[in-house]
Amino acid sequence: MELYSPRTIEYIKARYGFSLSKSLGQNFITDVNVLRDIVEGAEVDAEDLVIEIGPGIGSLTAEAAKAAAAVVAVEIDSRLIPILEEALADFDNVEVINRDVLKTDLNEIIERKRSEGAFSGKVRIMGNLPYYITTPIIMKLLEAEVNADSITVMMQKEVADRINSGPGTKSYGAISVAVQYYCTVSKVATVPAAVFVPRPKVDSAVLNLKLREEKPAELIDRDLFFACVKAGFGQRRKTLLNSLTGVRGLEKKDIEHILITTETDPRRRAETLTIGEFAEIANCIAKYTEDRESINE
Ligand code: SAM
Repeated sequence: MELYSPRTIEYIKARYGFSLSKSLGQNFITDVNVLRDIVEGAEVDAEDLVIEIGPGIGSLTAEAAKAAAAVVAVEIDSRLIPILEEALADFDNVEVINRDVLKTDLNEIIERKRSEGAFSGKVRIMGNLPYYITTPIIMKLLEAEVNADSITVMMQKEVADRINSGPGTKSYGAISVAVQYYCTVSKVATVPAAVFVPRPKVDSAVLNLKLREEKPAELIDRDLFFACVKAGFGQRRKTLLNSLTGVRGLEKKDIEHILITTETDPRRRAETLTIGEFAEIANCIAKYTEDRESINE
């Protein structure tokens, strides 16, 4: 059965009395080439474990199962579980888990599959992500330090552009810095809205995020680094001097001192800073607040 064909989707809807849920971001891919682009873009090989987020009726799952040693698909919608079980019955290397990926410990699944001997290669996370929670899913995976080699995911093209942007561009923002701190980013494909059922209002893109073995900057305090990024881009039209005032309760004169110490022009804006420059400022704030606290003790 060609799970990606619009005819199959119609058949499944009728057979199971299933209706697509807009609120769960159910836009299914109907072009096998896009499915193959995702699997190829993820560089899946025969020894690998694939963890798929949101399998829907299993079209990407089936392509991944042909390429990988094992696939675990995490799907929130319980109505899809019997459909997936039937659609993927020919594959003995697929496990479907009925859970919210945001509440699932993927490292636990990876370790279990490893101890079962289900795979001996790399761990590839992939999916055609539900648009309403693309950023929370990606950030959850990265902040939880998921034990994977890559994350290859489809998302709204605009979000992909933001993640893939560098300093000095309009689309560069907190999400670009956050993802690029953890990963190197490359675009696998741009995907027109026409290949989805139902058709979304916007085009999509597939990004391949390779988890870095070494981070691009040493951080004294990761939370402080992200607080600076958030503050900087939260008021992106403001100068750094103004937007960073308030971070860790610091006053303008403290931030001025920090920017002078790091040789950063206080009139610059967050959108011009590289990850390294953000790190330098955050590390300087960390030392400054530590010194101040030890003086006050
Ligand atoms: N993989 C299929 C495809 O490409 O045709 C379906 C992709 S569809 C864009 C997103 C899928 O994610 C849906 O099946 C939806 O039910 C599922 N989903 C939505 N929120 C989820 C969550 N929090 N955890 C796991 N799956 C979720």
